[in-house]
Amino acid sequence: MVLDKLGDSLKNTLSKITKSIFVDEKLINELVKDIQRALLQSDTNVKLVFNLSKTIKERAKEDAPPGITKKEQLIKIVYEELTNFLGETAKEIQINKKPTQIMLVGLFGSGKTTTTGKLAKYYKKRGHKVAVMATDTWRPAAYDQLQQLAETVGVDFYGNKSAKQPTDIYNEFKPKLSQYDLVIIDTAGRDALSDDLIQELNTLHKTVQADEKILVISADIGQAAEKQAQAFHDTCNVTGVIVTKLEGTAKGGGALSACAVTKAPIAFIGVGEKIDDLEVFHPQRFVGRLIGFGDLESLLEKAKEVISEEDAKDLQDKFMKGEFTLVDLYSQMKSLKKMGSLKKIMGMIPGMGNMKLPEGMLEVQEGKLENWKFIMDSCTKDELENADIMDAERIERVSQGSGRSIKEVREMLKQYRQSKKMMKMFKGEKDMGRMMKKMGGKLPGLGM
Ligand code: GDP
Ligand code: MG
Repeated sequence: MVLDKLGDSLKNTLSKITKSIFVDEKLINELVKDIQRALLQSDTNVKLVFNLSKTIKERAKEDAPPGITKKEQLIKIVYEELTNFLGETAKEIQINKKPTQIMLVGLFGSGKTTTTGKLAKYYKKRGHKVAVMATDTWRPAAYDQLQQLAETVGVDFYGNKSAKQPTDIYNEFKPKLSQYDLVIIDTAGRDALSDDLIQELNTLHKTVQADEKILVISADIGQAAEKQAQAFHDTCNVTGVIVTKLEGTAKGGGALSACAVTKAPIAFIGVGEKIDDLEVFHPQRFVGRLIGFGDLESLLEKAKEVISEEDAKDLQDKFMKGEFTLVDLYSQMKSLKKMGSLKKIMGMIPGMGNMKLPEGMLEVQEGKLENWKFIMDSCTKDELENADIMDAERIERVSQGSGRSIKEVREMLKQYRQSKKMMKMFKGEKDMGRMMKKMGGKLPGLGM
């Protein structure tokens, strides 16, 4: 999951509240200190951290509203303040003018070109006619990189390898752009913010007059993010931010808080090198995942992209009802696998983000999927629909029929029972307070 370390420390902090007998000033002070430490370790801007802790302390003094306990109130305050901190609502890019133009800016290696490809795919999938344009005249490889991405995604590509000025490239293709809903313009970076880069971007910015100027910033740059964000903002009036590489760093707090400083909201986050590793940034959901409330909505949104809407609804119903057969286990694992790493997906399911699954368990499952298929092919319809009838005799028959070992068949059944138990737990668990209580307790079937 993104920002694992920060998430873990915040989770520990919050579990202190759930475990404590009552809420007093000592607990609140301790809690605020813990949060400060966690945020500072992730390189969050110092001034912002102190403002945040002050607000939490102040609000903790308020009486709890009727119907919720002081503990629940405290958790709610922390959750709300962390959410505010990241910019209350999601930033949406409106595509209602033809062509809507997005220009991506940022330093070398921040992920602009990769993100151009990711965005092209994201919007193409949503039915828009998309083109991408390479204006990086600095690195010849940048042209090839984007051209290849465009080919993979299946969108039109514009660029001119022999051009010297980014504005020349833009002007050359400008007459062709009106046929597109969306044009994404990739720009050149530099190793550091140089006058020369600022000059170049400023000129391009004035020529293109893009609807959205998106700063692409890598999560691993820590505190430097604030200054960078400000400088790009001054150059071309940044309207949104994409934070990349959030999956691999403990220092993402810097980039996340830089956005709070410049007031340009985060639109997307990059969570991997692959073309699909892009997520819409929802501050509330993000914080929910960070502190382990899980995020069924994000999961379902992803699910919708790879499986049909109907299937997604079905999956949701099953999650909610706790109904679950062996066939569901298989089809679910298969669609989860399509969505990307299981680990990432688990982080989005309520409760699972908070679970300590045995190391390597999820990877193993991906490898096993094929074998499960063989095993299930040897099961009768009755067995598939009601796996509880699987006794030693049936297990042996299935093992022989499928050519897989008895141990493997048993493992699959065990996995099925565990998943079924988890499904049951999610049943109707939408209430935050109750969920926290459950998550603070022991989880059945997982030896925890
Ligand atoms: P640019 O110089 O800003 O155009 O950056 P690139 O798009 O060429 O990306 C630089 C490197 O970062 C490449 O190796 C990308 O694969 C990698 N990258 C981009 N976005 C992400 C991300 O979200 N996560 C990870 N892990 N790597 C990323
Ligand atoms: Mg590039």
